[in-house]
Amino acid sequence: MNKPAEFNPQVKLETVPVWINGKALAPAGRHGEVFNPATGRVTKKVVFSDAALVDAAVQAAAAAFPAWRDTPVLRRARVMQKFLQLLQAQQKELAKIITEEHGKTLDDAMGSVHRGIEVVEFACGIPQLLKGEYSENVGTQVDTHALRQPVGVCAGITPFNFPVMVPLWMFPLAIACGNTFILKPSEKVPSASIRMAELFKQAGLPDGVLNVIHGDKAAVDALLSHEGIKAVSFVGSTPVAKYIYETAAKAGKRVQALGGAKNHAVVLPDADLEFAADALIGAAYGSAGERCMAISAVVAVGAAGDPLVKLLEKKAKQIKLGVDMGPLVTRQHRDKVASYIDIGLKEGARLVVDARQQQTPQEGFYLGTSLFDQVTPGMEIYRNEIFGPILIVLRAGTIDEAISIINKNPYANGTAIFTESGGAARRFQNEVQVGMVGINVPIPVPVAFYSFGGWKSSLFGDLHVHGTEAVRFYTRTKVVTTRWPHQDTPAPGFDMPTLG
Ligand code: NAD
Repeated sequence: MNKPAEFNPQVKLETVPVWINGKALAPAGRHGEVFNPATGRVTKKVVFSDAALVDAAVQAAAAAFPAWRDTPVLRRARVMQKFLQLLQAQQKELAKIITEEHGKTLDDAMGSVHRGIEVVEFACGIPQLLKGEYSENVGTQVDTHALRQPVGVCAGITPFNFPVMVPLWMFPLAIACGNTFILKPSEKVPSASIRMAELFKQAGLPDGVLNVIHGDKAAVDALLSHEGIKAVSFVGSTPVAKYIYETAAKAGKRVQALGGAKNHAVVLPDADLEFAADALIGAAYGSAGERCMAISAVVAVGAAGDPLVKLLEKKAKQIKLGVDMGPLVTRQHRDKVASYIDIGLKEGARLVVDARQQQTPQEGFYLGTSLFDQVTPGMEIYRNEIFGPILIVLRAGTIDEAISIINKNPYANGTAIFTESGGAARRFQNEVQVGMVGINVPIPVPVAFYSFGGWKSSLFGDLHVHGTEAVRFYTRTKVVTTRWPHQDTPAPGFDMPTLG
């Protein structure tokens, strides 16, 4: 394998530009502010796209589509392989950008970049993934084959919490399938997408195949109403996911819209409680709880409850702000998360660890860890996705009760069980109505060659992201039935043809 060329980023990010037809553009007009959450200061501006800029991106993607669709799949795979090498070489640079704009620690950011790169590794296998089906002699001298063809210009709209990984869930596979793409990353973390577009260009991606626009609802609405866009992938909060699904589907587009979560971990009395508590602490407070697969609710069964809460209390208090756990993404989000401490107290939950008692850096959007026990399903701190470093514990008498609590919750992204019993784990995996399940694994994010997605209010649409479901989402099947006329076979008649 050739050594990848050095990457010398050309695009200046003081004002984060859009990327259209292989070029960075920063026109005058509406702009947003980008913060460093660790200092609380504005570090950059970002261009907010209006309908005209969105249209320019769609025109570029539409113009690039025919040639990219017709580029042999092996050549598309080679561009992907080069992109993979460049991404691997730039992991740390991308992770630094994430830490600067999102606030998560560098190690955590590195992990998320790595998980995104795994999707690009999967996309390199696109020649195998796009192989069709063929049946010989389905009727006398009649053969049938099925093709997978790209859908056209696709759009991806992504959240703030994974500035590299979630975009990489979408555009590499869409592009490998032969589509062209417009990415609209979160306006809070816009820079990494521009760096990835530059890297992809350096890998040999033709101009116009990947475009990046920025902005808020105005940019999203311009995408949703644009006739040129055939498919929309969305990841974000549930109310917006529902809106995206309904609006894009009404406009005749294919949609997958992944929403928010309240992920439960059930701990049975036979579990190794020390192991479970360590796993839960990382899953609840890692990335300051700003993960869609974070464990935000523990359901402690029977005798597991009291000793587990003691362990969680001890470990939650040991987390060092600014070292183990970064700040929240914005001041507004930090204040909203903090307000749930008062809400939980008013609702009668027992506050075991209180962020307000912990030392917090003067600057930045930091909030320490909080832990509530004796939470019940009617409470707001249980019903709402808090998306911050607040872990809640509910108590259940039996595994049946625990499963019933989970199945009544409208969210159904991920869940986990901690137990030494294979039988209990098997029952849990069969009966729980959630899209991704961990058995002694707290954050069961599937590897790239499986698909990622929740059920119920955590996903609007049918097909999940990455893995083979993404290949289905980004392609349409066409079935061809062939007969080569032969002197022995009569031409089809007037009635409905039957084969065989
Ligand atoms: P968000 O819904 O506020 O924003 C997501 C995207 O939608 C952004 O690009 C934003 O600009 C755009 N947007 C925001 N409001 C909009 C509106 N009214 N109309 C049109 N577009 C709009 O989400 P966020 O705060 O960036 O991210 C956190 C949320 O994402 C959490 O709820 C989290 O659970 C969820 N999430 C889910 C998954 C998953 O896989 N299910 C993964 C990551 C994050």
